[in-house]
Order: sequence, then C-alpha cells, then structure tokens
Amino acid sequence: MIKLTVVEKLALNKFNVQEGMPHIKIEHEKCQKCFERFCLYVCPAELYSQQEGKIIVEWAGCLECGTCMQTCQLGAIKWTYPQGGFGIIYRYG
Ligand code: SF4
Repeated sequence: MIKLTVVEKLALNKFNVQEGMPHIKIEHEKCQKCFERFCLYVCPAELYSQQEGKIIVEWAGCLECGTCMQTCQLGAIKWTYPQGGFGIIYRYG
C-alpha cells in the first residue's frame, strides 16, 4: 500500500468552482483593526495572504472546514458553504 502525504492527498481533490460567486468574503474595514491575523496561519490549505497590508483569500481552493471564520476575532470573515453542487469534492478519505 502506498502512503501519501497530506499534500498528495489534498491534490487528489477536485473543485467545482462557481466563478464570480465567492463563498468567503472579507470585511476589510474590520480586518484592518486586527493585529493577530490568525487567518494567515490557521487555514490548512494556506489560502490567506497579505498584499500591501490587505488580507486576501483564494477562496476557490477552500476545503470548507470553517476554521478561518471561527478564528477571526473581529468577525471580518463572512463564510458560507458554496451553493449546492459547487465547492470541494473529496476523493480521498
Ligand atoms: Fe481555509 Fe478552511 Fe477557511 Fe477554507 S474554510 S479558507 S480551508 S480555513
């Protein structure tokens, strides 16, 4: 039996992306008041980054765990599941 790393397992997943319909939205006014910015560290898919001090999220690769929303202290991350039929399709485990 071949043992896969977490990254290799994640690479087997498929994403059905609904273009132009992000299921994660960031309220940047709230975001600017946050110093910890836990979202940069907690996302297992590492989808959050900063560009010129502004938090951005590459929502199309979301694993739908909800961790970013739960850890945002200021409620700046508005997260919902993607519309039915869209989002991640897990293919391993
Ligand atoms: Fe990352 Fe999980 Fe938030 Fe998706 S729901 S952006 S995978 S932390």
